[in-house]
Amino acid sequence: MIGEAIQRTSDLDMDVFTKYAGVSIPRHVSYPMPSWWDVVHADEATAMLRESDQTRQPNDLSIYLHVPYCEALCKFCACQRSVRRRDLTETTERVEAYVEAMIRELRRLGGMVSGDRKLRQVHWGGGTPTYLGETGIERVHLAMREAFNLADDAEVSIEIDPRLTTENMLTRLRRLAFNRVSMGVQDFNQEVQEHVRRVQPLKMVRDMIDTCRRLEFDAVNFDLIYGMPYQTPDTIRDTVEKTIELSPDRIAYYHYAQIPEKIATQRGMDYTKLPDSATKLEMFRIGLNLFTAAGYELIGLDHFAKPNDGLAIAARDGTLQRNFQGMTTGQGLDMLGIGATSIGHLSGIGFLQNVKETDRYVERLQSDRTVFEKAKRFSFDDRVRQALINHLYCYGEIKKHDIERRFDIDFDDYFSRELRIIEELERDGLVTIEPAGDIRVTCPLGRVLLRTVAAVFDAYLHPEAYRIGEQACFSANA
Ligand code: SF4
Repeated sequence: MIGEAIQRTSDLDMDVFTKYAGVSIPRHVSYPMPSWWDVVHADEATAMLRESDQTRQPNDLSIYLHVPYCEALCKFCACQRSVRRRDLTETTERVEAYVEAMIRELRRLGGMVSGDRKLRQVHWGGGTPTYLGETGIERVHLAMREAFNLADDAEVSIEIDPRLTTENMLTRLRRLAFNRVSMGVQDFNQEVQEHVRRVQPLKMVRDMIDTCRRLEFDAVNFDLIYGMPYQTPDTIRDTVEKTIELSPDRIAYYHYAQIPEKIATQRGMDYTKLPDSATKLEMFRIGLNLFTAAGYELIGLDHFAKPNDGLAIAARDGTLQRNFQGMTTGQGLDMLGIGATSIGHLSGIGFLQNVKETDRYVERLQSDRTVFEKAKRFSFDDRVRQALINHLYCYGEIKKHDIERRFDIDFDDYFSRELRIIEELERDGLVTIEPAGDIRVTCPLGRVLLRTVAAVFDAYLHPEAYRIGEQACFSANA
């Protein structure tokens, strides 16, 4: 963990904050970003999987299963999802076909992976995974157990919607070895909930967390979002205090990503009620101060965890990882993606992504064709920068000598262009450069502008045109 001084917002130079905060910068949930991935032929995707199985570095696996359906669409949501069709028969048939497709894909991938590689982490996300129903989830889960070598102590987690999840569903999940749930909460303020079309009273969330604890799930996570219309520092403070009272094990405290040009439901947001950058910084600071005062540890950019939670332990062990699911404990695992739009990450080799459209995903599996659509094979430079950016997001620092040792490079020489920009960021108070050359982000200014620091090391962001503050240099599509 970084020993950093947490400043009050009033201590910060707001001119500096405003200089960087208005710039659109990728979030780097992957490096390189998906916009740089290529269309992939089935043979190349198979070759990447075989290579991963031969090198066995790492040996063990994680699986992400994506269910792209929701009962209704929340306005803020940027996930890959679609809403229930009106015709119930058609909905049932589509869900059934999707379950079948996931089972086929699991069997296919399982046949390409050696049986002695342990499956240590499973995460169901979406969309709303419970949309598949108890039977659908059980069928897919059992197919996964047949196709892969699930470790006895594997972490098996699922995202649930408190508005839709029943006690029966949770009981069934627990029996199937699910041991962690992640709950979309977002905000407890009624006006905010109504505006973003996600109404779930505090009592509903409290009942759900109580049920999870009674059923002895190992952990319950919350997702909260700050920076949405109608949110104010006061409403955020209230939401954070109610969250602390409910005491989830882990909290993802996300900044609202406003991209209406890509997310149609966001076009219905009342932009006149969006908080400005300075107010959003204040909201981050409120979460930071209240969660840490309540005993949570700040993990990476925007997660908080109890000290005995796996995420906090991973942060202390140096095994923290950041991927499309947020901060995870899965460092040292090759990740396979199941379902439409899912992404696999074969460490040191590359990314593999499935087709995005649900119908195409199902059709391809029904006709025994590949579902891989895009891929990115890592170059040496990709691997160097990926390791640096991932560590930066997880730990808020760049360990110069670790990078040099791991990749056999001279850091100052390799990153001479980037270091000139970092010096400007140091003058503006986003980072400090230590005598030995390590770079640390400050808190909260550097933390909330961490994307700005990471973007300096992104080789795909047009290095010649790159200047801090020039919006055209950045793409906001990751
Ligand atoms: S927040 Fe969850 S329930 Fe709402 S649209 Fe997104 S995936 Fe669906």
